[in-house]
Amino acid sequence: MTIDESLQNRLAALRTALRGADALLISNLANVRYLTGFNGSAGHIIVTGKDALFITDSRYGKDALGEAGRLYETVIMKGPLEKTVARLCRRLAVRKPAFEKTVSYAFYEKLRRVFGAEVIPLGGVVERVRAVKDDYEVGCIRGAVRRAEDAFNEVKGFIRPGVTEKALALRLEEAILKKGSLKPAFPAIVASGENSAVPHARPTGRKIAPGDLVVIDWGAEYGGYCSDMTRTFLVGGGQKGHRKDLRLAEKRKIYRVVLEAQSRAIAFLGEAYSKGAGVGGYRGKRPKDIDNSARYVIKQAGYGENFGHSLGHGIGLEVHEQPGLSPRPGENKPLARGTVFTIEPGIYVPGLGGVRIEDMVYLAQGRPEVLTRLPKGKSGI
Ligand code: ZN
Ligand code: ZN
Repeated sequence: MTIDESLQNRLAALRTALRGADALLISNLANVRYLTGFNGSAGHIIVTGKDALFITDSRYGKDALGEAGRLYETVIMKGPLEKTVARLCRRLAVRKPAFEKTVSYAFYEKLRRVFGAEVIPLGGVVERVRAVKDDYEVGCIRGAVRRAEDAFNEVKGFIRPGVTEKALALRLEEAILKKGSLKPAFPAIVASGENSAVPHARPTGRKIAPGDLVVIDWGAEYGGYCSDMTRTFLVGGGQKGHRKDLRLAEKRKIYRVVLEAQSRAIAFLGEAYSKGAGVGGYRGKRPKDIDNSARYVIKQAGYGENFGHSLGHGIGLEVHEQPGLSPRPGENKPLARGTVFTIEPGIYVPGLGGVRIEDMVYLAQGRPEVLTRLPKGKSGI
């Protein structure tokens, strides 16, 4: 599948999702990029049942979309955006445009000024379309995974006592760029010792020490798509007499529990296919149940309180997108085929350290596929 075919499908899928609304004004730049491939900072889209317009400013010009220009008429904005939108809506005979709820309040007020009470707030329409990836997108995601893994393999020799978290994170990010990513998908996390008990720790000047748990969470990008994975290591060494203080047995135990929780969740996803009903024997699992399949293992081991975040998140053009794999009720429809998401259980024990293991799963036709392949070891050493 080419990017052109992919973009065409995305626009068609959005139109199907739009049922009911005359037109949608898309302002979220990730959504604009998803629909057009445009990667600049000034871009809005208006989509109706038959028209598709891309609004940008003179810096980007009429050819801003390149090939995708065949799908969207490019309009160069003159004057305020809301006036351009109003003018275009008149031309398209749209009286009640919908707009994305995520716009700023200031922009909402401007829309109200030009459209009166006729504007309709819509939430998550493009985001829901984005949750399902096609072959072109999965190809980009695979490229992002490969670059992240290659980068890691290049620097793993540096995970040793005496190296600071920051130095390791920098080396990893440098390797990600060298492997052909324009940027890391997000700032790499390297958290050692008690810092590893903080799920979103930032790398510090702390030196890795014998007996440390070291959590490394990183990702690359490729073709605009992201990867996101985590591995945890138990650093060996330490003097004989002090080994007891390092509480190695407990660290190994939480590693085993997290690994077991993760494999349970992945196995549970697989059951959705073997026992399923519907097309191709497929029956998607609900996010809450997937979360629970891993959380149950952690609770049973007595660490329920130490797993405070959700099990995973969708990933694509952004590191965090739909679907969310959370224990909370709410958006809890069964996962659709074509979704790509992480499975990342963790246990964080203040004063001891933390373990998180994160892999990316593609809910392909017929079976879930784990996209990330780096080994996970038995005790993480
Ligand atoms: Zn991560
Ligand atoms: Zn993640």
